[in-house]
Amino acid sequence: MPEDENLTQTDVQKAIKSLQKQGFEIVYVEDQAQALSELLSSVPVNARVGIGGSATIRELGLVDILISKGHIVYDHWQEGLSPEKKLEMQKHHLSSDVFITGTNAITIKGQLVNTDHTGNRVAAMICGPEKVIVVAGVNKIVPDLHAAVRRIKEVAAPENCFRRKDPTPCAITKKCHDCSAKVRLCRVTTIIDAPSRAIKEFKIILIGKSMGY
Ligand code: SF4
Repeated sequence: MPEDENLTQTDVQKAIKSLQKQGFEIVYVEDQAQALSELLSSVPVNARVGIGGSATIRELGLVDILISKGHIVYDHWQEGLSPEKKLEMQKHHLSSDVFITGTNAITIKGQLVNTDHTGNRVAAMICGPEKVIVVAGVNKIVPDLHAAVRRIKEVAAPENCFRRKDPTPCAITKKCHDCSAKVRLCRVTTIIDAPSRAIKEFKIILIGKSMGY
């Protein structure tokens, strides 16, 4: 079920219909195993794969499987990267064959809403690889854009700051304090109403469970 207690399974169906109407390909799966199977069958042999900052993708264990299958994987969350190497990896997302990521929120009207620190994720979802795959649990579905931004400020960004050990106030209080630029994680926010013209295939794998943050 969505996090918002006022949302129902009917709202999930409405979100799916809206996304389809806007040109996204939607695959609804019941659980993580089905999501992983769908993902692996969606990645062409030998494709270079960019992985966006996404707890959902890591929860699925996708990165290790892709590497074991011989794919070149650009994963900036891997341990031990210097800041320069991390940025280099993030820039590779734009020139990958496939970009796989999560999303911060999906509105019932069918919009994807995301806030980034570096912007690599939102850029690659808009004008990078011709194939983009978003994986999201139904907890990401929200009523509207206001609720999407609220979710980012009250759930996604604080949890992300906590994971990254960022010195932001939200990492401690789990609430947005509209912090100053020096430590701020929330720098670029995008609303995707429909797949950009630059993308040939934009698939959303929606999992009927709560995944990521
Ligand atoms: S603006 Fe600052 S305090 Fe607010 S959610 Fe973003 S990083 Fe946290």
